[in-house]
Amino acid sequence: MRRMVAGCTDCDICRYLMDECCLLFPRIFELYDRELAGGPPAEDEELLDLMDLCTLCGLCPCPDVRANLLRAKSERVRRRGLSPAARLLSDLQSVGGLPAFLRRTASFVLKRRAGSRGAARLLGLQPDRRLPPPAEEDFFTWARRRGLCEERPAERKVAYFVGCTAAYLFPEVARAAVSVLERCGVSVLVPDQQCCGMPSAVEGDERRMVERVRANLETLLALSDAGYDLVCSCPTCGYFMRVILKENVRVGQGPSWLADDFFVSLDPHRRIQLAHRIHDLGEYVRKLGLPVERGLPDRGPSGRWVYFEPCHQREQENGGSYPDLLWRIPGFQVEPVGSSTDCCGMGGSLGYKKEFHAMSLELGRRLFEKIRSADPDGIITDCLSCRLQFRHNLSYPVLHPLEILAGIAGRKN
Ligand code: SF4
Ligand code: SF4
Repeated sequence: MRRMVAGCTDCDICRYLMDECCLLFPRIFELYDRELAGGPPAEDEELLDLMDLCTLCGLCPCPDVRANLLRAKSERVRRRGLSPAARLLSDLQSVGGLPAFLRRTASFVLKRRAGSRGAARLLGLQPDRRLPPPAEEDFFTWARRRGLCEERPAERKVAYFVGCTAAYLFPEVARAAVSVLERCGVSVLVPDQQCCGMPSAVEGDERRMVERVRANLETLLALSDAGYDLVCSCPTCGYFMRVILKENVRVGQGPSWLADDFFVSLDPHRRIQLAHRIHDLGEYVRKLGLPVERGLPDRGPSGRWVYFEPCHQREQENGGSYPDLLWRIPGFQVEPVGSSTDCCGMGGSLGYKKEFHAMSLELGRRLFEKIRSADPDGIITDCLSCRLQFRHNLSYPVLHPLEILAGIAGRKN
């Protein structure tokens, strides 16, 4: 943390660039200015507290900052362990893997306000936040019933990386992804998959993150070698696999452990291969060209909608694939909302933490105001964490662009 703070205070660019969209940089410069004014230098605890201000949104310019933060978080977990709340929030995959009767019970309890409050208190989370109930049938169970987990011969075929939030909390989004792909004439395989690793990385659980990334690298690259296109509908999984995993990677110029690369224990060649081969689903569908026109619905939901491009989508530089597709739906009115530095503030699931809840709302405040002043009939965003944050703070319906492209629009969500 000292190394990161020293680099950034030397540089000073983010004092102004990141003063509204990140909580970490204003605090760094506050500590720095205090010392310059003759006050005490930053103490160890103050430096350690800094890492909890980072949501890994990816908006800051330098990969070294993220590498140092990840390293610091994992070092802290090595020394102090992981809190039960952090363990739960970073491991939706294990929660989603509970036996069906337990999932149904959890869903029954969490659908009730009192139940959600009680569970949040018990787990040490922010009780004002409604905890999302797990889906009674997760996406993987549905996919198995549909035979999507078996390989089939096809001219154009994809292996679909779903992401835990869609798989266990919002399976309707993943089902919409399958519907859109099939309507475009693409055969879908849902392979065995692990959590992408981002939630574990954010919480500093390096051991679990490495296990999961290693398993995904093997499965996905083997399928890619066998002729499958790799697609992913979650912007955070996409950002992690396409950007974070290869940041600062060094190949062919000496060992990669000399680079400022947090993921050195994972083969750099494989990480680069995965980053280049996996596509964001919106980008993939847009590039399909003609079949897309055949697959589009006749109409979208009525009224005027806004589209928010989440941070992790912007950082992949996909060039606004979803608005481009949505604009092709006859008569559908949708306009972008938010600037290139607006963030909903949820930070994956960090907004559920008691200590981060108020900061999360502060981070998103500017964007919420923009949405309120647009006063749309609904919000479209491809990030399901943004969806949870918007639901908590705003009264508009929120849909994933794939739900609209699949023609499942206007449903209560
Ligand atoms: S993140 Fe990079 S650009 Fe921003 S202050 Fe730090 S070193 Fe400078
Ligand atoms: S990744 Fe986002 S939250 Fe973390 S330091 Fe950079 S801008 Fe701030």
